[in-house]
Amino acid sequence: MRCARCGWPAEEARTESAHVTSEGWVRYRRCVCGAVFVERPAGRAPDAANGTRAG
Ligand SMILES: [Zn+2]
Repeated sequence: MRCARCGWPAEEARTESAHVTSEGWVRYRRCVCGAVFVERPAGRAPDAANGTRAG
């Protein structure tokens, strides 16, 4: 994923905040150019530790 504005890699963008949703979680990143975009990583949020236990 890259910034639609300047093409900077999203991995280099600074994380603004993360929100847990019913379908997973989204992470807001702020690019070096100032643009904010939403990232939807796979898996659970690191902070959402209190959930179902696997195994
Ligand atoms: Zn950018």
